[in-house]
Amino acid sequence: MSTAIITTDTYKDHQVTPGHPENEGRITAIIEKLKLKKNNLIWKKPKKFDLKIIEDTHGKQFTDDVLSSFPKEGFGFFDQDTPVVSKSKKAALDVVGASIQAIDSIENKEINNSFVVARPPGHHSGTQLGPKGFCLLNTACISLNYLINKYKYKKVALLDVDVHHGDGSQSLLWDKKNIFFASTHLGGGFYPGTGSENEKGKYNNITNIPMEAGTNSEQYLNAYDRVLSKLKSFNPDFVLMSMGVDGLDIDPIGQMKLQPKDFYTITKRTLEITKQCCNGKFVSLLEGGYSYQGLQESSDEHVNALLEF
Ligand SMILES: [Zn+2]
Repeated sequence: MSTAIITTDTYKDHQVTPGHPENEGRITAIIEKLKLKKNNLIWKKPKKFDLKIIEDTHGKQFTDDVLSSFPKEGFGFFDQDTPVVSKSKKAALDVVGASIQAIDSIENKEINNSFVVARPPGHHSGTQLGPKGFCLLNTACISLNYLINKYKYKKVALLDVDVHHGDGSQSLLWDKKNIFFASTHLGGGFYPGTGSENEKGKYNNITNIPMEAGTNSEQYLNAYDRVLSKLKSFNPDFVLMSMGVDGLDIDPIGQMKLQPKDFYTITKRTLEITKQCCNGKFVSLLEGGYSYQGLQESSDEHVNALLEF
């Protein structure tokens, strides 16, 4: 039993406009770094799945609309930050297939836990909000519903550590009594502008902790411990993480001062809770992070903690 990295063959096919921070080099950088771990990791590819899995989260109308909106040639734009090409469609579907592979592999007891290293990201995408902010399909929320529908779990959780508020995830999980969602992020009007502490979800199932620009490791980890305390009380059957590393000091977009080692601590502390509540069932999905070096170092730290399970 061990840790699996799930990558896609199509992450490079999701072409973006020149200079766009969310580009294929991010994934290539992480893969190169994690390949140095040699035999300690299992590498897997996406599984095929029924599109109904996406409809269960986004609804049929949104799913049909989005999947029919990709241009035949050149660039199309879901919003000004979210360019796509024809092959972006398969790339986005493969991220979902990668997450399904991660979950099924854990449920089949082939692995303990998994990190899905793929793009495009998903946490800003919601049915009402549309695909936006570099995000097409909300793979994390699709995966939560897959866990509930396929494996009949009663309670599942999503922890979003990206520097941006997971507004798409929040919108999709707002009235889900059986799903705990927590987001730590930069507040003060930073994109997307949502995620204030008083946004708690219909069933008090959402925790938002907005933080200030310049937040350092100690301040962040103290806030994250508040998330973990709520996670422990919720006592989930499976835990997902929206693993964004744009809170790193080195990141060109985020304005926090996290260090790569913090992603070891974040992961280690999270796994300690999941060991108690759900035998360590844990999948992380890459979201943001725009420094190649930062992506490499924090992914390495994240995976070090996963391997220690
Ligand atoms: Zn982000």
